[in-house]
Amino acid sequence: MLNISHTATERFIKYVKIDTQSDPESKTCPSTMKQKDLGKVLVEELKAMGVKDAELDEHGYVYATIPSNTTKNVPVICFCSHMDTSPDCTGKGVNPIIHKNYDGSDIVLPNDRTQVLKPSDHPDLLNQLGNDIITADGTTLLGADNKAGLAEIMDAANYLMTHPEVKHGTIRILFTPDEEIGRGVDKADMKKLGAQFGYTVDGETLGHLEDETFSADGVTITVNGFSTHPGFAKGKMQSAIKIGSEIISALPKNRISPETTENKEGFVHPVSMSGSIEKMVLKFIIRDFTREGLVTLEEELKAITAQVMKKYDRSSFEFVVQEQYRNMKEVLVKLPHVVDYALEAIERAGVKPHRSSIRGGTDGSRLSYMGLPCPNIFAGEHAFHGKHEWVSVRDMHKAVETIVNLAMIWEEKTN
Ligand SMILES: [Zn+2]
Repeated sequence: MLNISHTATERFIKYVKIDTQSDPESKTCPSTMKQKDLGKVLVEELKAMGVKDAELDEHGYVYATIPSNTTKNVPVICFCSHMDTSPDCTGKGVNPIIHKNYDGSDIVLPNDRTQVLKPSDHPDLLNQLGNDIITADGTTLLGADNKAGLAEIMDAANYLMTHPEVKHGTIRILFTPDEEIGRGVDKADMKKLGAQFGYTVDGETLGHLEDETFSADGVTITVNGFSTHPGFAKGKMQSAIKIGSEIISALPKNRISPETTENKEGFVHPVSMSGSIEKMVLKFIIRDFTREGLVTLEEELKAITAQVMKKYDRSSFEFVVQEQYRNMKEVLVKLPHVVDYALEAIERAGVKPHRSSIRGGTDGSRLSYMGLPCPNIFAGEHAFHGKHEWVSVRDMHKAVETIVNLAMIWEEKTN
C-alpha cells in the first residue's frame, strides 16, 4: 500500500466553503458564474503543484495535465469530477464540521438540532466506527457531491507531482460545471482533452465502481383536441386537457413507475403537462438498462395513448421519442480492461471492490458515447443533495490511493 501524506481533507474543507450551486433556469454556461470562483482556486493549486498548463476556460471547465514520466507509450487517461452542487439544497455559507473518531451514535447537526444523522437512516455510518466524519452544520448541504472527488483527484495529483519515482503515462484532469443540471459535458472539448479513457470520481460507497447506467429517452405526446365555445359544445367539444389526464390515469399503477421499481427495472415517468382545451403537451422520461427495454416501454405508452384516443374521433395525437443518453456498459463491455484496472486499483488500496449499476446517468455515460469510455469510481459522498450529506476521511483517502494505483497500473500493463 502507498504511504501518502494526504492533503484531501484540507482541500475539501476549502472547496465546500465556496458556493457553487448550479441553476437549471439559467441559459449561460456555466449556469452560475460563482462556479468559476472554485475553478480559479483549483487552477492556482494545480499551478502551485507544478502543473504548468492548468487552465480555466470561458465555459467554466478546468483542464490540466500531469505529464508522463515513463518511456512507455501509455494511453492518456483522464480523471473527472464536477464543481457544482445540487440546486435542491442551498450551498451558501457551508460550515463543514469534522466529527473525530465516530462512535456509532446519532450525529446532531449543531445549527439546526432537528437535523440528526442516525445510523438507522444511514446504515453506512456503521462501517465508519473510529473514522472521522465530515458533515455540514444542519443549515446547508455539504457538497461532498462532488467536492470529495475534486479533493481526491487534487490530492492524487499532488502525490504524483511530488513522487517522480512513481511511473505513469500522461494524465489529464477535467473538472466540469453544471453536472447536477445535466449539462456537465455540454461544452467539454474532447479534442482538447485528448484522453483515450476516463474515470469520473463521483460514486457513493467505499470500493464501488459503477460501469452501468440507465439508458434514457424522452417522449413528448401532443394531444390535439377539438375546441368550441363552451356554451355550444354539446356533442362537439373534445378537451385536450381531459384527454391528457385520461392518458396519465391509464398508466399502470403497480409497475413501470419510479415509485414501484428498483434495481434493474425500468419505468415510464410523466414529468410535465401543459396546454389548454385545444392542445396539451405531455412530457415523459423513459428509463431502462437496455435499448430493447426502452422500446418495449415506449410501445406500451403509445398503445395506452392510442387506446384512450379511440374514443375521440375529432382529436389526434403525435408521439415523439428523443434519445437522451445510453447505458455506458454498451461501450465498456468491449473494453473490459478499463474496468478491470479500476477494480485492481481498488483492491491494491486494501478495499474490497464492488461492481454496481446506477439508476441514473453520469457525466461518464455521456462521455462514454463522446469517445471517452468512462466508468465511475467511488468518492465516498453519502446522502447527497441534502442537509444530511456526509463523507468519511478514511474513504476519501482510499479514493486517492485508488486514483494513484490506477495511474500506476496503466503504466505497468503497457508493454
Ligand atoms: Zn455528483
